[in-house]
Amino acid sequence: MAKVLCVLYPDPVTGYPPKYARDDIPVIKGYPNGQTVPSPEGELGFKPGDLVGCVSGELGLRKYLESHGHELVVTSDKEGVDSTFERHLPDADIVISQPFWPAYLTPERIAKAKKLKLALTAGIGSDHVDLKAAAARGVTVAEVTFSNSISVAEHVVMMTLSLVRNYLPSHQFAVNGGWNIADCVTRSYDLEGMHFGTIAAGRIGLAVLRRLKPFDVHLHYYDPHRLSPQIEAELNLTYHETPQSLVKVCDVINLQTPLYPSTEHMFDDRMFELVKRGAYLINTARGKLCDRDAVVRAVESGRLAGYAGDVWYPQPAPVDHPWRRMPYEGMTPHISGTSLSAQHRYAAGTLEILQCFLDRKPIRPEYLIVDGGNLAGTGAGSYKLD
Ligand code: NDP
Repeated sequence: MAKVLCVLYPDPVTGYPPKYARDDIPVIKGYPNGQTVPSPEGELGFKPGDLVGCVSGELGLRKYLESHGHELVVTSDKEGVDSTFERHLPDADIVISQPFWPAYLTPERIAKAKKLKLALTAGIGSDHVDLKAAAARGVTVAEVTFSNSISVAEHVVMMTLSLVRNYLPSHQFAVNGGWNIADCVTRSYDLEGMHFGTIAAGRIGLAVLRRLKPFDVHLHYYDPHRLSPQIEAELNLTYHETPQSLVKVCDVINLQTPLYPSTEHMFDDRMFELVKRGAYLINTARGKLCDRDAVVRAVESGRLAGYAGDVWYPQPAPVDHPWRRMPYEGMTPHISGTSLSAQHRYAAGTLEILQCFLDRKPIRPEYLIVDGGNLAGTGAGSYKLD
């Protein structure tokens, strides 16, 4: 029988269960590339639309796991050697964590986790796991591919419009009782006609491009692999051979590449020198893709007209993290991929992966990041170990 150690973000400060604003969520049957939504066996341990991503929600897993004789420990206490997470780690067969509140599985922690066989990301993005150390130890790493890609794409569109139109500062004037129209509009533009580029056109990047097409913008992308000629023609895309070429001409830049050693700090002072003055940078991929202080310098100097995103390093971000207070920011905590709609899909996908693993059935290749001592499935396309 397996011990499953699950790290989730804390409950709402207003208490659990919360009151919901809506009674249902739309039924999504498949993803744009034809992949089917998660299909665990039997009943889900929750109602679609429930808040299951926090500790009391337990991803709806308890009933299933305990009725099959497994042990489930759920905690948000994840930092330091005395944390609940580290105390349970040496006996854990399976660790479940989320990018929003990541339990960092460093090489040291993987060494401590002598029984660990599966590191399961309830969401997308497994960079909180040291993939090289996991591969060397024979630990399987899996995530729920596509579960929240559209959720993130919607967030990118929201942040793009919000920065370009100067929404958040203008809202603040309204909240504060003002009517400062000139103050609001001195930084407010139309998106129409601008050049929008995404660095990485994978599941999320492509969904963003598709969603922005009706805004009559010029669309650009960089990705190590080109999209099909059909998609390039359909969206009238300009392909760039390098990210550097893209940032020179785009008014809005969307960063959507996975984080691995060679993408860390892709946006540093040198990259910002190339960026078109007054561009906006959106980053919902990973905080460490950007050099923290170089971003601050770029917005303070006017190189960037604004920076928005929901990803930070570390997470949760310290109270004094400069992105919380720098000018022209539109930051949120890491929420884009954990809407109630997304939670339904990634909790169901987590259950599907657990069932496969515990019943010794193959996990879908699209969910695999590391398997058999190397990158595998989606991981083989999206990550590098160095
Ligand atoms: P995909 O795997 O579908 O796409 C990743 C894309 O990145 C692939 O097209 C890949 O190229 C490309 N890529 C790999 N290396 C580079 C590089 N060096 N430069 C530019 N592009 C590169 O992933 P998703 O679109 O689903 O997710 C992307 C990332 O977004 C995740 O890794 C995660 O970090 C983040 N994310 C954030 C969420 C949030 O809540 N904020 C939620 C979900 C994901 P190719 O395969 O063609 O080689």
